Amino acid sequence: MAHSADDDLIFIEEDRSPDNIADVDACWRILIVDDDRDVHEATEFALSGVEILGRRLHLMHAYSGREALTVLEREPDIAVALLDVVMESDDAGLKTVVAIRQDLMLLNLRIILRTGQPGQAPEADTIARYDINDYKTKSELTHSRLYTTLTSAIRSYNQLQRLDASRRGLEKIVAASNQFIAEKGLHSFAEGVITQLASLIGIAPEGLVCAASSDDEDHPEQFRVIAAAGRYSHLIQQRLEEIDNLHIAQSLNQALRNHYSTVGSRDITLYFRKNAEEGFAAYIESAEPIREVDQHLLEIFCTNIALCAKNIDLVNELRRDALVDRQVGLPNRNALVLELDRRLAEGAHNEVVALLDIDQFAATNDMLGHPYGDALLTATAQRLRALFDNSVFVARLAGDAFALAGQGRFLDTATIQRLFAHPFLIDEIDHPVSVCLGIAPLDGCSNGQDALKNAYVALRRAKALGIGQSVTFSPEIGQSAREHTLLLRDLRIAFERRELSIVYQPQIDLASGKVIGAEALLRWQRADGEFVPPDRFIPIAEQSGLIVSIGRWMLPEVLRSLKRLQAAGHEQLRMAVNISSIQLRQPSFLDFVNNSLAEAGVAPELLELEITESVALEGLDAMVALLDKLRSQGIRIAIDDFGTGYSSLNYLARLPFDHLKIDRSFVLSMDTSERGARIVRTIARLGSELEVKTVAEGVENQEIGQRLHAFGCGAVQGYHYAHPMDEASLLLWLAEHR
Ligand code: C2E
Ligand code: CA
Ligand code: CA
Repeated sequence: MAHSADDDLIFIEEDRSPDNIADVDACWRILIVDDDRDVHEATEFALSGVEILGRRLHLMHAYSGREALTVLEREPDIAVALLDVVMESDDAGLKTVVAIRQDLMLLNLRIILRTGQPGQAPEADTIARYDINDYKTKSELTHSRLYTTLTSAIRSYNQLQRLDASRRGLEKIVAASNQFIAEKGLHSFAEGVITQLASLIGIAPEGLVCAASSDDEDHPEQFRVIAAAGRYSHLIQQRLEEIDNLHIAQSLNQALRNHYSTVGSRDITLYFRKNAEEGFAAYIESAEPIREVDQHLLEIFCTNIALCAKNIDLVNELRRDALVDRQVGLPNRNALVLELDRRLAEGAHNEVVALLDIDQFAATNDMLGHPYGDALLTATAQRLRALFDNSVFVARLAGDAFALAGQGRFLDTATIQRLFAHPFLIDEIDHPVSVCLGIAPLDGCSNGQDALKNAYVALRRAKALGIGQSVTFSPEIGQSAREHTLLLRDLRIAFERRELSIVYQPQIDLASGKVIGAEALLRWQRADGEFVPPDRFIPIAEQSGLIVSIGRWMLPEVLRSLKRLQAAGHEQLRMAVNISSIQLRQPSFLDFVNNSLAEAGVAPELLELEITESVALEGLDAMVALLDKLRSQGIRIAIDDFGTGYSSLNYLARLPFDHLKIDRSFVLSMDTSERGARIVRTIARLGSELEVKTVAEGVENQEIGQRLHAFGCGAVQGYHYAHPMDEASLLLWLAEHR
């Protein structure tokens, strides 16, 4: 057999010496069935010394149809039955044929019927139905006739058997390939190869597998046993030259060095090629002589398995990827969870996990560009890694969040926050960076996931407190997070059951005293009658994104309400609707608003959207473009809660809007605090500077209303004028205040 070392697979047949092979294997088994002993003798005589397709014949005898079935049931691999038609009964032969095909399900066995007279021949359709190979009259039992008949029967038996073996083998190869894709590494892979290969050949798994040891960089030429089974299990991890069985060691060595496979009489050594240099070999031994295995099948097996081996490398790489963040070169979230699990398993005394999140990263990223953002993340990763020793595990979670795991005394709030006290030098410019911090102790956590979840809860708290904040997880915080989860669950259910409703609070123009519009506000009344305040459920709806669905229900509802109010004669009434930043950031928001207006038949000028300055944090430019678009259609924009939260005159100067709402907290404080009054006056002045109308909310008495008027405030809203009310009450209220 010609071969070169580059070939994917080369088989070398060893000489099969006849004494190695048991007689049964080299023979064709022929069953003679006849009630006439003379026929047995005549047949034996005619076939004595005959070889067909390189094998001698082994003749077996039965003297009735029943006896024939018993023999066939017991003995495997009978190739041909020479069957008499008339025996214990006239149709005993045909009955036997039916039983062979239908009961014993021996479909490959070739059947030659023999009849006393030509008239006893079966019908053509019987021959076809029961796959009767041939029929002959006994007078045709000459040596040469019998020889040609048997040869063609044996040839077709052999082909059928090989087809069967191929099909079984292919099924196994396909199953094996599927199995291997799921394997976890070369070791279990190699074990799998032994099992699969053994089952392909039909022997018990005995033998071992070897691979070029790439673990040992000093001796890349050294081969080691990476999996072993059966009585060779003890060879696992041994070097090839340590194997006490010279034959095995040599077979494997040859296969590995010369990149070829060999098939012996009682063993097979296969070489699996992963690439030009690398591969591994499997040695399989069998106590029984190995039956002739289809070489083609083994080839398919090796190629498939080698492909699987390549996949294993790929999978390992993917697994590495699954644990490392390529961008900043730190372990990722998965790796962190594993590390936390490991630390917990080792006791984890006084250890914590700390999560840090860069403040306003998205906004800065937008403002200064993505290359800056990437540089900042890399710089943060480097600073964290450089400033802690190896006892601290540093990982990057998603986006701009990082994690530290280690002893609590290294990872306290002050130490971590101090890391961000001095600015980052990026492109030779100093960039001050602040972070929010959530710390959770590992003590008491059942696993890494839990610890991480606690740290997230703390981080979320810190972020809610504002920039540069730190929160350490406590059981109380955990409790309130659980309540939060429960509340969200209830809110979802309430929303689905349509248990949310809308109320409207009138807004009054201070100069004319006229009602100019109303603000729509959500209400959630539980089944027991209790109202859940919007200040509790709205933030939860926002964090979970549920506010988007709620908003999709609410806006059309409000506009339909407005349409009915118009029909009742309040044509100029304007509706103000609160819109969260997450709603604004939906790409479909603009279309959604326009469709809602069109469907309700309401003019865009009568819709006002109340937003907060925080919408600018997620990207100012996109927001400016959106607001410009909305306003160009006539829709009004009001800046809500001005003075609380992320106020920045920078944003205020760039955001396009129509009204500035002075938050009720300032207005409420006017009564008691001079400072509160000064703030309100300043905001009112700011409004006139910017040439926008200011609207004060939370006006609870006449006097405040008057002072606001004096400050130059345009409109008011508050309990002094009206509480929020449902549509029907508003209609009545409006009728009174026309
Ligand atoms: P907001 O937008 O600042 O709404 C004004 C809040 O002030 C309302 O509280 C209103 O009932 C209350 N208020 C009005 N007049 C007075 C007064 O004279 N004194 C006092 N003490 N309070 C007054 P409410 O309805 O509890 O809503 C709270 C917050 O929930 C709202 O504050 C708003 O941020 C949010 N919210 C309510 N409805 C929605 C909504 O449909 N969508 C969104 N995104 N947020 C909403
Ligand atoms: Ca509002
Ligand atoms: Ca407000």
